Amino acid sequence: MSHRYRCRICGYIYNPAISDPKEGIAPGTLFERLPQNYRCPDCHAYAFAGGRKPFELLEN
Ligand SMILES: [Zn+2]
Repeated sequence: MSHRYRCRICGYIYNPAISDPKEGIAPGTLFERLPQNYRCPDCHAYAFAGGRKPFELLEN
């Protein structure tokens, strides 16, 4: 089961089934496997920087 994550700042939802091909992330990439410098495509918050975690797990 692949989980979706939501950006707390802007509400963008990272869906691994769609992923983020515009940023070169292949569909099927789990959120946990995103590059450490990955940024939210809408608000550009770093997903993993500095211990702050803008993204929260969406419960199904
Ligand atoms: Zn965002």
